[in-house]
Amino acid sequence: MCEVCKNVILRKQFCSPQDYLNCLAYLQQLIDSGEFELESATCALDEVKGPDGKWVDDIIGHVIRCRTCGQAFTCSCCTYRGGGSFYKGR
Ligand SMILES: [Zn+2]
Repeated sequence: MCEVCKNVILRKQFCSPQDYLNCLAYLQQLIDSGEFELESATCALDEVKGPDGKWVDDIIGHVIRCRTCGQAFTCSCCTYRGGGSFYKGR
């Protein structure tokens, strides 16, 4: 953890699909800021829903990494059962 990523706002639990989408937008913001990069993902950040409006997968995950210290953060969601979180680590 460094000065940059100690400010990352983690989420213990997504309370709604919209909450999850908001978190993905937050990830995109972090990447756009240039401080973080996408390390791995099951799909693109803006493609978690297909053209039909359905989730592309039962489990969707994105890992971003701090460019300064290398700390990873994972945003994962189980769209089938609901629930997920944004946490430190992978
Ligand atoms: Zn960092």
